Amino acid sequence: MEVTKVIDATRVYKIGEVETRALRGVNLSIAGGEFSALVGPSGSGKTTLLQLIGLLDQPTSGQVFVNGQDATHLNRNQRADLRKHSIGFVFQFFALIPTLTAYENVEMPLLLNGTKGGDRKRRVNEMLEAVGLSDRAQHRPDQLSGGQQQRVAVARALATNPKLILADEPTANLDTENGKQVMDIMQRLNKETGVTFVFATHDPRVIGYANRVITLEDGLIVKDNGITK
Ligand code: ADP
Ligand code: MG
Repeated sequence: MEVTKVIDATRVYKIGEVETRALRGVNLSIAGGEFSALVGPSGSGKTTLLQLIGLLDQPTSGQVFVNGQDATHLNRNQRADLRKHSIGFVFQFFALIPTLTAYENVEMPLLLNGTKGGDRKRRVNEMLEAVGLSDRAQHRPDQLSGGQQQRVAVARALATNPKLILADEPTANLDTENGKQVMDIMQRLNKETGVTFVFATHDPRVIGYANRVITLEDGLIVKDNGITK
């Protein structure tokens, strides 16, 4: 079964009198285990689509399914609950909590979902190790490089074992070497655990990692090289 499905989704933003049609009828199904890139020029609707899939936003019309469940008309709390159990996020600007250590940042989603003491500690350490940062557990974000911060963000996104990770331009603020490290780790976690990744990017080096490339232009999918390899 698909982990997410979007049917005929539109999203119109209204600011005063100005309407922007960010998505104009998108149909997309993502299967479990995909490592898929969402590409397209700036303003084509990549972030908007990720936010709909991630239940951070709702379509103006159309439907969004998560794990086969129609999430379109869930209220805010129900969406938050489904999100907490099913979806992890990685953002362009890392979005770590600056006053918390790497350990505490990874621990946060586990605190929020009620994972108890020993299990929580084991999981945080396992995730820090998976991203190669066991020796940086007590560092705060400002004591880490950009690449290390993004690896903490990847560990945090995966801590609760969601089926789907959405990454919005995860390497846009990293140099080539750090970008490669982050993509290598995401790819390895995808292969080892089967967790599904959808990442927006316009970096050709990042697109090269994808099993499937979905191209957006002006709010529509104009190209999709199909099912994951
Ligand atoms: P991308 O991520 O591909 O650059 P976005 O999804 O961010 O594209 O934006 C798609 C379109 O929607 C753009 O024209 C953008 O200006 C507009 N847009 C995005 N977010 C908002 C918002 N919160 N309010 C109004 N317009 C928005
Ligand atoms: Mg964007």
